[in-house]
Amino acid sequence: MLQVARKKAFCKVLGPGVRSVIWFHGCFRRCPGCVADTMNEVAEYESFIPPQLADWVKGNTDIEGITISGGEPFMQPLDELAELLTLIKRDTDLSVLCYTGYRYEELNVSGGGLSRYSSVLQHIDVLIDGEYRQDEDFGQRWRGSANQRFHFLTERYRSQADEWNAAVERQIEIELDMNGKLLISGVPSKDFINKLTNELQRRDVTADFS
Ligand code: SF4
Repeated sequence: MLQVARKKAFCKVLGPGVRSVIWFHGCFRRCPGCVADTMNEVAEYESFIPPQLADWVKGNTDIEGITISGGEPFMQPLDELAELLTLIKRDTDLSVLCYTGYRYEELNVSGGGLSRYSSVLQHIDVLIDGEYRQDEDFGQRWRGSANQRFHFLTERYRSQADEWNAAVERQIEIELDMNGKLLISGVPSKDFINKLTNELQRRDVTADFS
């Protein structure tokens, strides 16, 4: 089963156009300053079989693609993650962006054959790789820190590589759920997180960053 910490049908701040976003549960890294700590091992999650998640994506009309993040997507069962992406690519023309704490070179090590991650990688248009480093957080668009790189694994967005690498504006989306909890999507700046967290603590409000 795929373990999903959170999903959002329509998001404009984690990749080009309007995208459905799936945040997978769990990450073995502990990057200082990670905003996705609600995705760690003790956080709540829902379990889905791949066709269920694929149907949810396919039901979201007028989106350009999906973004998968976490947590660490590559900690999920790889055969099920590959099945999810296979179903989406088979039935739609949606693009796939994927965030990972791994370096691309770690995922693409083949040892003479196909990498064990290749069944997933083959469906990804753009991989955004590398762990978050607070001291390299320079406000770049769609990236938490400068060490993270865009890998254009297909032609889908390759012609936009220069623009993507140069873009520095960051945007976030903030929603209030039915329980009065703030849900924050995107890549917020360190200053913003600190100020908001302090302000919310003063008011006894819980925020969920992802
Ligand atoms: S790899 Fe990503 S999700 Fe995992 S701890 Fe680091 S920043 Fe957080």
